[in-house]
Amino acid sequence: MTKSVAPAGAGRPSDLAGRGGLKSKGQTSGGKAGTVPKAVQSPFSLPNRELLERLGQIASRLGTRSFLVGGPVRDLLLGLPSPDLDVAVEDRSREFGADVAKELGGRFVYHSRFLTGTVQLLSTPDSRLPSSHIDVTQTRAETYERPAVLPTVRPASIVGDLGRRDFTINSMALELTPGSFGAFIDPFDGRADVTQHRVRVLHARSFIDDPTRIFRCIRFATRLGFAIEQQTLDLMRSAVEQRLPAFLTPERILYELRLICAEPLVLPMVEALIHEHVLKAAWRWTPPRGFLSGMKKLVRQAKSLGTVQGADPGDSPLRDSPRTVPGFRPAELLFIYWLSVLPVTDRFPIRKEEREAAEAVAAAARLEDGLKRKPKLKPSAIYQALRGMPESALMILAALEPRPAARHIKTFLDELRHVSISVTGADLRAAGLKPGPAYREILDKLLFARLDGKIRTVTEEHELLHRLAARRKNI
Ligand code: ATP
Repeated sequence: MTKSVAPAGAGRPSDLAGRGGLKSKGQTSGGKAGTVPKAVQSPFSLPNRELLERLGQIASRLGTRSFLVGGPVRDLLLGLPSPDLDVAVEDRSREFGADVAKELGGRFVYHSRFLTGTVQLLSTPDSRLPSSHIDVTQTRAETYERPAVLPTVRPASIVGDLGRRDFTINSMALELTPGSFGAFIDPFDGRADVTQHRVRVLHARSFIDDPTRIFRCIRFATRLGFAIEQQTLDLMRSAVEQRLPAFLTPERILYELRLICAEPLVLPMVEALIHEHVLKAAWRWTPPRGFLSGMKKLVRQAKSLGTVQGADPGDSPLRDSPRTVPGFRPAELLFIYWLSVLPVTDRFPIRKEEREAAEAVAAAARLEDGLKRKPKLKPSAIYQALRGMPESALMILAALEPRPAARHIKTFLDELRHVSISVTGADLRAAGLKPGPAYREILDKLLFARLDGKIRTVTEEHELLHRLAARRKNI
């Protein structure tokens, strides 16, 4: 276990029970927990106050209370910028989202099954908006019929809603309703846990109900540099021992792995997952030799490329962003590299390109021998060895393979794959050649000659074409 997720000295189980935070076994999350909300005046000054007030007014016009909830409240307490704007309303979430979209200029997509939606703000010059979208949820409680299956949901008050959440640090709300604007609702004493830098579940069945919280627990603890409170750590380890992650669908696990791959501290997170045997419990997976050092190399490469493009200093070079080198999506590459060593099955809901790239990385041992051994190779030989391989697989192998293969792959990515010839099929027809397999052969010969510098101009291309065509016709 890495230091950041080691048990907290401060974690005192009796504290937790005393606060009514941990519920007894079998209790349903939401609704009953923390029935006496602590609503106090806001302990922080609010950025985007105007926008938040406006959201509160829109909800109020619909006759419902509204709240900023979850991650943004946690990040506000920590003084961190929050990329998200998560708003919960106690009623009429569909109408609320639609009104917000109308007033702020955006498009609202609603998922009635989950009582959630997203307002995608149209590109607006208003740089005060923290995010390009606003997530809208209806406050709700959840009941888990069986471990690891998705819960059934029912409308609930804000306190019921906070009680269905994963950790105390994510179970706080700020009221946006006019008249109560800024009231801080913290039924599980999340603020104390934020102050004391610890991640704590709300109740003892938390990881049983939803083992994805094991991944989330490690992710938040590592990202924030928090400890995992002792009882929470015990519960998490017990869930792993019982192999509860094995009940999760591949889709839900892969979703978590993708999120981890997009984190700046992806390496300690992966280390902690391995140390805690989480994927061993899910898929009986243990990392092959060299896996972590491969991850490290990819992260190092991501960082160097991230700075090349002059990303903001505080930005994670791992978040896929248009500022990084075109085509280089570090989070995606880390994910594909991970896939290349995981027991991927047909049930894995991954894109075709991801599957093919992962397979190509897994087959790297079969890279042509010359590529691995010979520091000097003709460009056309490099080209022939690598063409057809998925771009992301090549980017991964460029970081992982020892020299000289790495250098050849880089040459291919940076230069060779962009080389083209001007001769087309129409030119071949004009030269008297019948369409057929010979076309590909001749076009290849022209391209290889161009790659190797034997021809440099369009005229030389056409001269060579005619020589090759004449030879063909004489056969
Ligand atoms: P981030 O900073 O990574 O966006 P977040 O706290 O906003 O973190 P989300 O995954 O966006 O996290 O989820 C929003 C909120 O929904 C969380 O703060 C938490 O309260 C709740 N939540 C999300 N996933 C779960 C879960 N598996 N179980 C319980 N509550 C959850």
